[in-house]
Amino acid sequence: MKISKTFKYRLIPSQDQDAHFSRWAGCCRFIYNWGLAARKAEWEQKNGHLSYVSQAAQLKELKRLPETEWLSEAPAQVLQQSLMNLDQAYKNFFTKIKNGQVGKAAGFPRFKKKGKSVDAFRFPDPSQFQLKKVSDTKAVIKLPKIGEVKLYLSRDVEGELRNCTVVREGKNWFISLNCEVENDYSASVQERTEIGIDRGIVNTLVTSEGKIYQLPIGKIKTIEQRRSVLQKRNCKKIKFSKNWIKGIRSISALDRKISRIRLDFHHKISTEIAKNHSYIVLEDLNIKNMSKSASGTIENPGTNVNAKSGLNRSILRQGWYTFQTLLEYKSHWYGGYVKYVDPQNTSRKCSHCGHIEKGNRLTQEKFCCKNCGFELHADYNAAINIFTRGHRGSACGDADVSWVDEARTTSCA
Ligand SMILES: [Zn+2]
Repeated sequence: MKISKTFKYRLIPSQDQDAHFSRWAGCCRFIYNWGLAARKAEWEQKNGHLSYVSQAAQLKELKRLPETEWLSEAPAQVLQQSLMNLDQAYKNFFTKIKNGQVGKAAGFPRFKKKGKSVDAFRFPDPSQFQLKKVSDTKAVIKLPKIGEVKLYLSRDVEGELRNCTVVREGKNWFISLNCEVENDYSASVQERTEIGIDRGIVNTLVTSEGKIYQLPIGKIKTIEQRRSVLQKRNCKKIKFSKNWIKGIRSISALDRKISRIRLDFHHKISTEIAKNHSYIVLEDLNIKNMSKSASGTIENPGTNVNAKSGLNRSILRQGWYTFQTLLEYKSHWYGGYVKYVDPQNTSRKCSHCGHIEKGNRLTQEKFCCKNCGFELHADYNAAINIFTRGHRGSACGDADVSWVDEARTTSCA
């Protein structure tokens, strides 16, 4: 089986190349907005939909007009890709509408704003760029119109190159190389065990084997504090001024730093767990609903708004959803699977005798059964419950069990 993998590297462009990147990203943003405006106008005049093909043809005309001649500076493919992105955004929107989502949730394509939207462009065709290794840690990538750009080769590229995306993150430019890799992991499957995992706010992840994995929350909180200082400062600046844009960039640099820390953590842990376990049980948490704003509407105001928003931040900070997504595709690579079970009472139930009582959980940390006196770390106890629930479900086909990989349910029956 072939899988898609992305390798991301920091580019070291010259000053001239850096300026080119900025302008190309600007051209792509312009084209996206131009395409969106045209589609909106077409729709309002009730002429129906503009397709990607017709817009790509118009793009050629656009580049010939004296006032938009400057678009020719960017490679043609990255501009076409920008229109393709718009086309995809429309398709996503219609799929969501079809699935019954309305309003904001459906996400109608929006105009990209300078300083707010991400500066990026993609080369969709691997014949357009060439990667050349220079040393163990350095390489160059040859791009159309600007030649070779240096990059830090933090790890080797595997597989066959498919496309590449250049994106600005703060002051730096990064390149993501998308490759098709032959997956031979399933061949290396050894004796692997089953495991249940509890996701919490104090302890990020606790397994039914009693292992605790902790996100570096202290580090994240320090960055969050610095971020809020910068944000307050930026509010006083004139919107879209040079100084304001600079502020926005610093803020988003901190955001990225936080998400890098979190992603790094989740990548490491999910790889470790997926490699060593063939069968992983998680709680089926509705994270979107759990972290929903508590303020409610005017007619129906929420209660405990402050406490709830603090909890929301904690839930989102932990990145539960990221973890579950990574774990799903990695266990697929390694030939294992993830199973979801009903989260009800997992933290109140005694994993020893099965007695359920709110009072069983003495504190955040401590679980002590009122019935049999069994004592354990509270999250560890919950992880065991999650595991047994998933395990039992697999034997007798519980209705509360949902499978990630539908095809595998047949092997269970
Ligand atoms: Zn008990």
